[in-house]
Amino acid sequence: MTDLILLGPPGAGKGTQAKEIAAKHGLMQLSTGDMLRAAVQAKTEIGRRAKAIMDKGELVPDSVVVKIISDRIDQPDCKAGVIFDGFPRNLPQAEALDEVLKSKGRKLDAVIELKVDDSQLIRRIEGRFTCAKCGEGYHDRFKRPKMRGVCDVCEGTEFARRPDDTAETVTKRLMVYYRETSPLIGYYYCKGNLRRVDGMASIEEVSQAIDAVLAQIK
Ligand code: AMP
Repeated sequence: MTDLILLGPPGAGKGTQAKEIAAKHGLMQLSTGDMLRAAVQAKTEIGRRAKAIMDKGELVPDSVVVKIISDRIDQPDCKAGVIFDGFPRNLPQAEALDEVLKSKGRKLDAVIELKVDDSQLIRRIEGRFTCAKCGEGYHDRFKRPKMRGVCDVCEGTEFARRPDDTAETVTKRLMVYYRETSPLIGYYYCKGNLRRVDGMASIEEVSQAIDAVLAQIK
């Protein structure tokens, strides 16, 4: 079993890389952002409460995301290991995760930090969109569908942009990252879990660098 965290600011490529590693290594991607967006879409009680917070680029309460993760990790599809993507986002969540994993007889194998130049983040986030059907990620400048308006993976023709990927909210989310989430780099460094990967390289190169980290810890 391999449990990993992908750590980095919004736009660092956590979601893209989590999908790659999940497919290659048979791990389950657990994105709290995706789960919360699904709850918003399904108009559940959690979704209704989370929506206003997410639209502002702020953090949903720790108790909510910790419970979501704790419940989700018990599912059989998480048995081989998971990649936490967008979780934990602050120190209390990191400490809660330690407890959750311990109580379930699991442990963190590595925390992979994706390092990206600050100046690139806003450009990366602002142009991104996904296939509305299969969720494949695209970018106006860096990764357009091969055929205009048609998803490379499922041939879907509808695409969506996240409501919080606007210039104003992105700046807020970056500020929240630096204030709340970046201290986790020091936290995991001190615990001996931290591995750093250059997130500025191509998607394929970053993925290979992560493979090399996984090969070391296995
Ligand atoms: P993401 O898809 O990871 O960029 O998350 C989108 C939004 O969902 C964030 O800006 C937060 O509002 C919320 N969110 C996602 N994960 C967490 C988390 N671990 N803790 C609190 N809020 C979160």
